[in-house]
Amino acid sequence: MSLQPREQASLKAFNSFGIEAQARLFVQTHTDQQVREALALGEQRQLPLLVIGGGSNLLLTRDVEALVLHMASRGLRILADDGVQVLVEAEAGELWHPFVQWTLQQGLGGLENLSLIPGTVGAAPMQNIGAYGVELKDHFVGLTALDRRSGELRDFSRDECAFAYRDSLFKHEAGRWLILRVRFALSRIAAVRLDYGPLRQRLSEQGIEQPTPMQVSQAICAIRREKLPDPAELGNAGSFFKNPQVPAELAERLRGEYPDLVAYPQADGRVKLAAGWLIERAGWKGCRQGEVGVHRLQALVLVNYGNASGQQVLDLARQIQADVAQRFAVYLEMEPNVY
Ligand SMILES: Cc1cc2nc3c(=O)[nH]c(=O)nc-3n(C[C@H](O)[C@H](O)[C@H](O)COP(=O)(O)OP(=O)(O)OC[C@H]3O[C@@H](n4cnc5c(N)ncnc54)[C@H](O)[C@@H]3O)c2cc1C
Repeated sequence: MSLQPREQASLKAFNSFGIEAQARLFVQTHTDQQVREALALGEQRQLPLLVIGGGSNLLLTRDVEALVLHMASRGLRILADDGVQVLVEAEAGELWHPFVQWTLQQGLGGLENLSLIPGTVGAAPMQNIGAYGVELKDHFVGLTALDRRSGELRDFSRDECAFAYRDSLFKHEAGRWLILRVRFALSRIAAVRLDYGPLRQRLSEQGIEQPTPMQVSQAICAIRREKLPDPAELGNAGSFFKNPQVPAELAERLRGEYPDLVAYPQADGRVKLAAGWLIERAGWKGCRQGEVGVHRLQALVLVNYGNASGQQVLDLARQIQADVAQRFAVYLEMEPNVY
């Protein structure tokens, strides 16, 4: 199948904020060979590259004077199965949530807490997606990526990916690696993670004391649907800021001033604060500035009421950053990739 590049293509349908921006050149790739052809096309046209999956962690603040490569490869497979541990592989363009559902339907536990996260499998290692006490790295085994510098394929082990909280090697070497497929170790013996209080509570309200991975997934989907706006109805990119990790002395000082501060001590001695709490306490929850705003139920989520530009979202984010820094001496780092 040949590439079908499109000039000046709208990216509105390819970013969960629903922001209008034009790609100078847009291609969709379904195979490794097409990815290589797309890279060659970009070089021939002397265009920089922007890889996108579901566009759910992306803020477009201007037209993209680049070749936008939309990863659309499909394929799910079981590579090894010893009756308990199962090694699965998914192509980068597979959508994350349907992939998680597929693993659960195979009777494989591990990814259930990451249910309903938008986006693709290929983007998931970029920021080591996480939710409800589980991160991608907990079940990740390896991935295959194409190195734009050498044109060669390389397999990465978990250690080589340098995963951390919403972070990985691939974020730091943005643009170099095109993730083609990702592998996970899952288990036929359920070992569900119920660290998150509201999840335990919901299951126990349903009379479920020893939930299956599928039941955990269903409970998480229900909680997420209640808490988070659906990008199909209200443009957003999920959490807009990371939870900041601050020195223990600062957390202590803030707790003196705000006894209800939400804070989690970390293994390295620092303390993780809830960005949503800081933003809410600074008075931003539910605020609206024309076409952009902070969600009324979730202070971490910035929303596009319909016709916002990416620049308007960024301006609001910067105002919040400055206000939180001034009030609490805490810097909030943005989570989405800003273009
Ligand atoms: C409603 C909502 C809820 C969310 N909840 C969570 C959550 O609970 N936890 C969480 O961690 N995240 C969450 N997110 C953020 C987002 O879903 C994840 O970051 C997701 O992994 C992004 O996938 P994507 O395919 O949409 O990536 P994109 O937005 O398309 O791309 C993200 C970055 O990855 C790069 N990239 C994409 N694909 C590839 C590839 N194959 N190879 C190399 N680079 C690539 C892009 O260039 C970009 O820099 C949420 C987002 C929304 C809208």
